[in-house]
Amino acid sequence: MFGRELMYIFTHKSISLTGTGLLLGILLFETFSTSRAWCNSLCPSGGALSLIGTKRLWHIKMNKERCIYCSRCNDACPYYIDPMKLATEEDFDWTKCDNCGLCRDVCPKGAISYVIGRRK
Ligand code: SF4
Ligand code: SF4
Repeated sequence: MFGRELMYIFTHKSISLTGTGLLLGILLFETFSTSRAWCNSLCPSGGALSLIGTKRLWHIKMNKERCIYCSRCNDACPYYIDPMKLATEEDFDWTKCDNCGLCRDVCPKGAISYVIGRRK
């Protein structure tokens, strides 16, 4: 949408009120709601990718034996999914996890790793 607005400015020497209004609306929504609310909840592309993501074969996994429950992984997750839920495998929202690996990177015990295969 931003690119389209830029093109509109160059080609028509004006702005589209609808497009600019939508962009501002999204910015306000992102500012005053939870982080990445648009990507997580409303964007059609994000929704489709999330659904595909639930079936991915390359995903993160936690080794419960190594976890010391320090919650650094929870703090690092940009989507607030709480990767510690992987320890109990309850309520972990696979539709929001994008495999970024930040939880894995901060874990002091190497308890989170990538694995290949279907989730159990
Ligand atoms: S891989 Fe990224 S998105 Fe998924 S739980 Fe870890 S930090 Fe969150
Ligand atoms: S960062 Fe590692 S050790 Fe700490 S709670 Fe998360 S998985 Fe467990």
